[in-house]
Order: sequence, then structure tokens, then C-alpha cells
Amino acid sequence: MILVTGGAGYIGSHTVAELLRTGVPESDIIIADNLSTGHKESVLGGKLCVGDLRDSEFVSKLFKENDIDSVIHFAAFSQVGESVVNPLKYYENNVQLSINLVRHMVDAGVKKLVFSSTAAVYGEPKNIPINETDPCIPTNPYGQTKLAVEGLLKWADNAYGLKYIALRYFNAAGALESGEIGERHDPETHLIPIVLQAANGERDCIKVFGTDYPTPDGTCVRDYIHVTDLASSHIAALKRLKDIGESGIYNLGNGAGFSVKQVIDVCRQVTNRDIPVELAERRAGDPATLVASNQKAMAELNLKFRYASLESIIQTAWNFHGN
Ligand code: UDP
Repeated sequence: MILVTGGAGYIGSHTVAELLRTGVPESDIIIADNLSTGHKESVLGGKLCVGDLRDSEFVSKLFKENDIDSVIHFAAFSQVGESVVNPLKYYENNVQLSINLVRHMVDAGVKKLVFSSTAAVYGEPKNIPINETDPCIPTNPYGQTKLAVEGLLKWADNAYGLKYIALRYFNAAGALESGEIGERHDPETHLIPIVLQAANGERDCIKVFGTDYPTPDGTCVRDYIHVTDLASSHIAALKRLKDIGESGIYNLGNGAGFSVKQVIDVCRQVTNRDIPVELAERRAGDPATLVASNQKAMAELNLKFRYASLESIIQTAWNFHGN
């Protein structure tokens, strides 16, 4: 069985959907989520166990009562701004629950884990595109807690032979093609859902945070990757752990950068709606440009992304947000 922690969240629920689409039987998927930010309606199959991964009894029971042989670990808080205001919340949750999970994996002899990491571990990048070997100096507690868990996994491999793949995502975007599930954060802070909410009338306008960055049009540049492509990358990572059994760290991005203004323009084309824009101050902690070098992931995980263009990514998000 595969244990998916945080499987009711945005990327976790799309990964469960992709496991099901690729033929993994429902009886082989178990989802652990405390539903603090996830939604139980987003879990399209498998067995959902509602509980807190910091609770030793809950996790011990998960491993005792289910024949788990691998783990895909998403469960975490993921709002950068909130993490700066409330770092204890992030350390107490993201780090503690991962310690507890790894502790019980070691006790149960489960030795394969795919970890949901982030480009936020790099902080302000030295080079663009960013390579996995570039320095990791996070500029917020969210990125720092993810890096802390990467460190734990490295030493758990060294001491206990726990094999892991950490996937450092760039900007996850889009929704299941059918529009059945998609990105739903409360409050929403991410660019594409906010722009689409301005298109569908849920918001008055989109505020562009900063127009004086050292980029071609002055707005921040990011590398957007479709959530289903992220999902299938986790399955490819699990396959590599089964076939080759080597731990590793991989960037996941499309390798192309788009500015905030370009994203808004593509949203206008896709939705055919007027999207009012307000120019605003920079948001604290935003690096000017984040673009992945994805060569290592493409080659070693044998990835083929289904959504290479920003239009196709935004179209699926609009299937979910549109009205
Ligand atoms: N952004 C913006 N207005 C918004 C939300 C985001 O201009 O209402 C910008 C943000 O400053 C960043 C980019 O859009 O440069 C992507 O932000 P998001 O929060 O989606 O992802 P992040 O790159 O922070 O992980």
C-alpha cells in the first residue's frame, strides 16, 4: 500500500487522482490528512484516515493496521507569508509531523519516501536556472522547515537505509482536466487562482506586487508547472525508488519563466474576460526570478510533461474556476 500524507490538499489530491488514473487499485491507497487545510471532497478514491500526523498513536495505528510499503509525504502548512508571521506554527507542524512519520517508518521497516519539498529552499537564487547543487539559504520559515526535513531524510538514509526522493517544486498551477478538483486555499494567495477570481467576478481586480524588479517587464518571473505533471513526477519518483533504490533531490519545473504581467495576459486570452489590474508595492520576500533547471529530473525520472504551455495550464485552472 502507498500512504499519501496530506492527500486531501491541492497537490496531494491530484496525486491520488493520478495514482487512480494509472491503475493503482483504491485498496492500495491510504490517505492521512487532518483536513485542517485539505478538503475531504477532493479525495477521489482510496481510504481516507482523518488524524494528525503529530499524534504518535494515530501514526502507529496507520502502520500497524495497513500493509504500507511506501509513503508520499505532502502534509504541511505551505503559506510563505503566514510562516514569517508565525514560525512556531510551521516548525511545530511541518518538522514535528515529519519526525513522527519517519520515526514510525523506521520502526515499521518502511524504506521508501517521496517528499514534497519546494524551490523556497533556495531563497534568493545565485544562478538562473537554478540547479539542485546551488546553495540553499531559505528566506522564510516555510522553506527552512522543508530544508530541515530534507536534512532529516538525508541522515535517516545514512543511519537506517531509508531511501527518499525530495522534489523541489517551483510554482504549482492548474487543475484536473475535468475541473473536478483544483486549487482551493483559504485565504488564496497564489497568483493564477487570484487572477481567475478577478476574471470570474469573485474579486474586483488583481494586485500586481511590484513593477520595478530587474526583469524584462519589471514584474516577478516564475516557472509554472501543472499539478498533474507534479503528481505524475511523484509516481515516477516512487518507481525510481523501487527500481534503483537511490535517494535523490530533484527540481520540478517546466524550465521556462513567465512574468506576472504575462500570466495576466494569458489569463485574459484563455478566459476572454476583462481582468482589471492594480499596480501595488512589492510583497516582502519575493525573489525577482525563479526558474528551474529540470534536466536532472527529466533524465533520471524519465518525465514527460503533459502541460508544457502556460495556456494549457491556465485553461485547466479556468475549467475549475470559470463560470
Ligand atoms: N503575485 C501578485 N499578486 C497576487 C499574488 C501573487 O502579483 O495577488 C505575484 C507574487 O508577488 C509572485 C508571483 O505572483 O511574484 C507568484 O506568486 P505566488 O504566490 O503564486 O507563488 P510564489 O512564487 O510566491 O510561490
